[in-house]
Amino acid sequence: MRLWEQNFRDVEPYTPGEQPKDRNVIKLNTNENPYPPSPAVEKALREMDLARLRKYPDPAAEELTEAIADYYGITKDRVFPGVGSDDVIGMAFLTFFNGPKPVLFPNITYSFYDVWADLFKIPYETPALNENFEVVPEDYFRENGGIVLANPNAPTGVELPLDQLEEIIRRNQASVVIVDEAYVDFGGESALGLTEKYENLLVVQTFSKSRSFAGMRIGFAMGHPDLIAALNRVKYSYNSYTMNTPSIILGAAAIRDRAYFEETTGKIIRTRERVKKELAALGFTFGDSKSNFIFAKREGTDAEKLFRTLKENGIYVRWFSKPLIRDYLRISIGTDEEMDCLLSFLRQYTAD
Ligand SMILES: *Cc1c(COP(=O)(O)O)cnc(C)c1O
Repeated sequence: MRLWEQNFRDVEPYTPGEQPKDRNVIKLNTNENPYPPSPAVEKALREMDLARLRKYPDPAAEELTEAIADYYGITKDRVFPGVGSDDVIGMAFLTFFNGPKPVLFPNITYSFYDVWADLFKIPYETPALNENFEVVPEDYFRENGGIVLANPNAPTGVELPLDQLEEIIRRNQASVVIVDEAYVDFGGESALGLTEKYENLLVVQTFSKSRSFAGMRIGFAMGHPDLIAALNRVKYSYNSYTMNTPSIILGAAAIRDRAYFEETTGKIIRTRERVKKELAALGFTFGDSKSNFIFAKREGTDAEKLFRTLKENGIYVRWFSKPLIRDYLRISIGTDEEMDCLLSFLRQYTAD
């Protein structure tokens, strides 16, 4: 090691899903929405005055924050927007987890949580999911420096019922509980209502999946105004202008179009339920996903090999090399046509 390297921050970064250059592949590897954003977004983009880019954006992203607050029927002092929920959750780790006690999150969950914990030097422990990939609530009934639960969980798609989640929050009012609802719009039950009752609960959502905005980078947290104020103090100590002008304008246009959102999420849910039946008929097993992906395995099928073969055939899914889940593939829900391509490939593959 060269001397000037000795004070470098040593981190093992998160590995995002692959974004292939070839636009013709069937891309079912990063849980993107197969449908375009709302037509209202296109209209807002055409009408956007480019002269606005000359100026700094509104640091509070008021137009977007207000549109989100309106959508959920809450006041805007309960909303904190960020550059994707990754930005929001990272900021929340930095803001709320500064104690000596370990933060708790499951051993199988979104693989960014341990990366942020390491980056910010936050102690953490990872209670195991049970054999059905369910969170065991009792594991969270102990002293901790905070709790983070993705619900529905990633990459399993399994949901922790709201009454069990509430029990975890109820017993943990001495630390901040973050519920990451990246997939809740695909049939899950949101904990948003509980933020009125529990001041220490922060619910995080994203435009990336259910609102077809992964490329735009918008996420947001909702919770008690004191939590939001604390997030803002940290944000304004690091980067005041997280939200750029186009994302403020286009994000507001996207969330105002409730009808389009309901239509497209409804289509994805219907496709998912159909694909579940077809995968089951091919011998795949999986939990009852409430997300826009299915986390499946097949007895006697090598998941890594299938993942590579699919890729050679232009179909991208996600495979994780982690010991507990290396037999599984995470398959995002695409359009019906995309899923039919995948299914006909799998029909042939499993028959051979
Ligand atoms: C996709 C995802 C995120 C991050 O989404 P952004 O694109 O940064 O909004 C956060 N948590 C989970 C569980 C996710 O799957």
